[in-house]
Amino acid sequence: MLKKEERFVKSQVVSEVLCNICGKKINPEAEDFVHIEKHWGYFSKKDGDYHEADICESCWDSLCGGFKIGPEE
Ligand SMILES: [Zn+2]
Repeated sequence: MLKKEERFVKSQVVSEVLCNICGKKINPEAEDFVHIEKHWGYFSKKDGDYHEADICESCWDSLCGGFKIGPEE
């Protein structure tokens, strides 16, 4: 038999995101955005570096507009 009790666990949630391109505040509960993480590998000039960025939908659309080959859908 399992005896259960109610516990309240303190946790951290993301409450605000800043777009790395335009600086706009993004409410992650009401807006979607692109999150990029990259661990650079041996064959790059950034071997071992870690980069992380967030991009709002508007900036994503502008960014993709400059692609010669659009993102896959
Ligand atoms: Zn933006």
